[in-house]
Amino acid sequence: MKTARTVAELRAQIGEWRGAGKRIGFVPTMGNLHAGHFSLIRQARESADKVVASIFVNPSQFGPNEDFDRYPRTPDADAERLDREGCDLLFLPSVDEMYPLGVGSRVRMDVPSLTGILCGASRPGHFDGVCTVVSRLFNQVQPDVAVFGQKDYQQLAILRHMVRDLAFPIDVQGAPTSREADGLAMSSRNQYLTPEQRAVAPLIQQTLHWLAGRVAAGEGIVATLQAARARLADAGFEVDYVAVRRADLAPATEGVPEERVALAAAKLGNTRLIDNLVFVPAL
Ligand code: AMP
Repeated sequence: MKTARTVAELRAQIGEWRGAGKRIGFVPTMGNLHAGHFSLIRQARESADKVVASIFVNPSQFGPNEDFDRYPRTPDADAERLDREGCDLLFLPSVDEMYPLGVGSRVRMDVPSLTGILCGASRPGHFDGVCTVVSRLFNQVQPDVAVFGQKDYQQLAILRHMVRDLAFPIDVQGAPTSREADGLAMSSRNQYLTPEQRAVAPLIQQTLHWLAGRVAAGEGIVATLQAARARLADAGFEVDYVAVRRADLAPATEGVPEERVALAAAKLGNTRLIDNLVFVPAL
């Protein structure tokens, strides 16, 4: 596997591959890679000849009181594993390389119709930071295909919107959520959990299944959401939101047989966990 630390190095290698008619697949990450990330690499490989992964802990998507400084950074282990998984090029830019005019002077990208709701409501500026860095990475890598996890459902919806609206010639693919044996969605943040918190963490996914089952069977959304929130709060979660939306994140309409998604975000101590479940009501 090759490594590039500058945009110039990245472009030189990708230019060579493009000249040879290769299709480029791209998987952006913040590192501290786990099996979920590697499933994205494998999916990218299925639709591309060369796979590029990036590791960049993006300061512009962390709020002032969030975990930017303590976010786990394990570049050596990540590189070794990416190499074994068949990744062809690892892009490891510095903050200065990504934001040459300074983070504060950056050009910003935003999708205001989708970035203020759900996770965006409690993490102001987060998705603006995500769109900003992903649009830069797209411009730097110029991939044919980019793969993102459905675990970050709202992020994927926002990035699809951005790509469509700006006509990026990129096939954005979603990849299924990789889970631990007990159903907890894999996340680099799971390692912050104490053993006690780790034991109750799968309740998020169980609650989403319970919620989706009841709503799919025709129970009222508002009352069921309240009960779902109470289940999580009773188990010690500080609930940020539990929501049922249309699959495109528009408000769900009671009694309409549309594809929907149940989403939740909740904290155990200082660790914020998210998960979601797509379902169709049997109406
Ligand atoms: P991150 O490094 O956490 O920012 O994630 C990089 C990419 O991996 C994003 O597209 C995430 O949605 C995806 N991802 C993270 N966790 C998982 C998971 N458990 N299953 C599938 N994809 C994931």
